[in-house]
Amino acid sequence: MSGVILSDYEKELLISLVEKGVERLEPRITPEGIKYNNLGESDHWRETINLLKSLEEREFLTGEDFDRAIICPSCDSPHVYSRYACPTERSIFIKKIILLRHEPDGYSGELETFVKNGRLVCPKCGKDLGSAQDKETWDPSLKEIGYSFQCDHNGHRFERPLVVHYCPVCGSTFDYRTARYIPLKAYTLSQKTYDVVKNTADTEKLIKPIVDFLKQNGLQIQYGYEIKGVSGSTHQFDLAATVGSSLLVIDYSFGDSQELVALLGKKLDIPSAEVSLIDFSDNEELLNLGKVYNIPIIDTGKKNWVTTLQKVVEKMKQVPVEKKETPRRRLWERRR
Ligand SMILES: [Zn+2]
Ligand SMILES: [Zn+2]
Ligand SMILES: [Zn+2]
Repeated sequence: MSGVILSDYEKELLISLVEKGVERLEPRITPEGIKYNNLGESDHWRETINLLKSLEEREFLTGEDFDRAIICPSCDSPHVYSRYACPTERSIFIKKIILLRHEPDGYSGELETFVKNGRLVCPKCGKDLGSAQDKETWDPSLKEIGYSFQCDHNGHRFERPLVVHYCPVCGSTFDYRTARYIPLKAYTLSQKTYDVVKNTADTEKLIKPIVDFLKQNGLQIQYGYEIKGVSGSTHQFDLAATVGSSLLVIDYSFGDSQELVALLGKKLDIPSAEVSLIDFSDNEELLNLGKVYNIPIIDTGKKNWVTTLQKVVEKMKQVPVEKKETPRRRLWERRR
């Protein structure tokens, strides 16, 4: 694909999603239209759907079949109720009739013929068989043997009613023949989106919740950090946090697993430091690799990132006075 163009609005949208830690958008049908979680309230849901579709075509989002919606053919609303109707005259004033049999004496008939003062009583033998309202209380000898529907006005009997839809927005009634039945997709942010955000976003803003959390726990923060490893090589990190003599070094990832592999190499050379990776994407592979490498992955899109980081901080605070601190210095200016 070439000539990838993102409008400023689209770019801002994608950045704001990453900033909020949103990795997935799911649709739901509401009286106001089809809404996506995490997208804020908008009256222009059709435009939103077209925007998401278009972002999917350009591979900034990955679409996945999620739901279906019945759309009113008159006014395009997805807020539709269903009713059952008589197949003969399409009246919705029909009722469901349940057929029962009392096994011991073989009496069978409509449920109504059993009802007496809120109880079910066999019309043939007179035995009380439970509450008319609560099926759970039915005597085991009472069996439901079938059902049918009956039209209130004209008494038509039928086994299967028509399903008709009613749109409260414009008041029209329609059925499957004229309804629009549309697929609704859920979307996840693609690697391409994370790459774009990585190049344009304000990384400090993205990690703000994490930095705030570390500060609240009494850690000192430094952006851009350099430290000499056991091997004598110097390693660079995006972020460092210290408490007492404990050091936590952190790199950022936008879903690229190479970032984690590189971090593993650095970790092995700095055995005294805690190491974590902040991942802004939704990369399950990274989470699994992190377990293998014993590197906590702080996935800002997952609610449990606080717990993960909390464990790291607790471990750091448990460390008594360490050996001599490795000399460190600020490497580069704060990123913007
Ligand atoms: Zn009976
Ligand atoms: Zn009828
Ligand atoms: Zn309508």
